[in-house]
Amino acid sequence: MPIFKKSFISLVILAYMPVLIFLSIGFFYTTQTKYLIKEFVEFFLFSTVLYAIGIVLFRRVLRISWCYFSISFLFLISFLKTAFYYLYQSKLTISAFYILFETTGSESSQFLTTFFDLKLLIISIVFILFLLLTFKQLNYLYKKEKSLFYLPKFNLLGIGVYLVLLIGILSSIYLINWKLKHNNIIYLAKDAYVTYQEAQTLFQSSLVKQTNEELKNISALDESQTYVVIIGESTSSRNMGLYGYYRDTNPLLSEIKDELLIFNDVISPHTHTIPSLNKVLSLSNYENPDVIHCGSVVQLANAAGFSTYWISNQQPIGIHETLVTAISKATKEQFFTNALTNKQLEHDEMLLPFIEQVLNKKELKKIIFVHLYGAHIAYKFSYPPRFQKFTDTPITKFPSAKSTEQINHYDNAILYNDFIVRSIIDQVKKREENAYVIYFSDHGDEVFQDIDFVGHNEYHATKPMFEIPFIVWTSEKFKNSFPNFDTLKRYQNRRYMLDDFIHSFSDISKINFNQFQPERSIFNKYFKDRKRIIKKKVDYDNR
Ligand SMILES: [Zn+2]
Repeated sequence: MPIFKKSFISLVILAYMPVLIFLSIGFFYTTQTKYLIKEFVEFFLFSTVLYAIGIVLFRRVLRISWCYFSISFLFLISFLKTAFYYLYQSKLTISAFYILFETTGSESSQFLTTFFDLKLLIISIVFILFLLLTFKQLNYLYKKEKSLFYLPKFNLLGIGVYLVLLIGILSSIYLINWKLKHNNIIYLAKDAYVTYQEAQTLFQSSLVKQTNEELKNISALDESQTYVVIIGESTSSRNMGLYGYYRDTNPLLSEIKDELLIFNDVISPHTHTIPSLNKVLSLSNYENPDVIHCGSVVQLANAAGFSTYWISNQQPIGIHETLVTAISKATKEQFFTNALTNKQLEHDEMLLPFIEQVLNKKELKKIIFVHLYGAHIAYKFSYPPRFQKFTDTPITKFPSAKSTEQINHYDNAILYNDFIVRSIIDQVKKREENAYVIYFSDHGDEVFQDIDFVGHNEYHATKPMFEIPFIVWTSEKFKNSFPNFDTLKRYQNRRYMLDDFIHSFSDISKINFNQFQPERSIFNKYFKDRKRIIKKKVDYDNR
């Protein structure tokens, strides 16, 4: 019996060898242990499910084969996970794969040389050695203790064990699905497949091309111009000091208030990133919602002779991201600052050096699109600890421990966002060029303002989910060259829905094109007040 016990323990150790190797190597490269532990728990449960399925379903030769297959498969997953931890200190994501392929090109040789360095080669050899060793030990155990592989027997105790295994399988699957699916290889593969299908369609659409046939008769000025369009995330103007919020969440933008045009009544067309940016960044709008064939702001800028850049702190690939990436692919160069790192660790200041780098490029006309992580939920991860200023009990109609925590995190995220937008303005300002910086958010968020809710949801849509900042900073040179610049100040109370942004964008960038409609530009003297229809048929201003 003692020998049996010993061989049983050896068998368990062999079975979990892939998990153990991943944990021991990952431990050296992780920046946050709690994410590694999550990875470990998922990998452990997944391995257990795989083995348990084999024990419940198969007997004898089939079971042994399943055992060998499982170990090989788990070793492969373990290697991939470990390689990612070594290279990027993060878990495997489809965005990371996308960036790897994008930045290294489609040539696999180039991909492999980037992917493999000496240390990784050593890690690979360690994996192969361990795999062979595991197989050898397994063979040895099988020869010595065959009966161990045929357990449990079909007696009363055995059936009890089968039942426990079955419950174990079901509860592990439930647990993975509930909390750990983003760490699971099967889920990741499914997600990758769906995203790949979507990307196939989008990345072959007219959106990714440099220019679009729909946009014609484009004319623009040949003078020096540097324009920056900042796209925020989930930032409601309701929580911004600049828009009258009782907390000073915008100390830095308020400081330069006189240099800003602050538009007071701008809403997003939707409460989610994709449907909203669909319309904001292209010719599509409420009246004409089909995006794929419509030209984008990027294509318009390209056709007008601007060098265009896309600098994003969001993930490039995923169910909520791919469309924006398709639009960004039309730019001359794209930078995804966050894709290969753990998104919960990197804040928007990551973007600043990239912006500086592009601003330094000597080009007569350029437009930089900056996509912020902004006040993305979970808010506590979207700002660094040094911006934790609001900690007291906030004013809300829905006081609770949860609302206090969420509102404070949200307001701190907005405070951080204030610092980011101001920093970008300062980067542009110090160059004294003919320049503007436009800042808006893709939509807002409800954070215990009008209802007892946190986040955004079009079905339960509330005003704070639509109310967004729309701010324009302009340089002195820009002011002097823009015809009747001072009249713009009179337009700050105009009611506007941002699905018409392309018209405002072309207007202020002095780009003319066949489909430009001055009545849809917030900056134009021919602007016409338009019914703002949300949720397909609801009049936003008369609900
Ligand atoms: Zn969003």
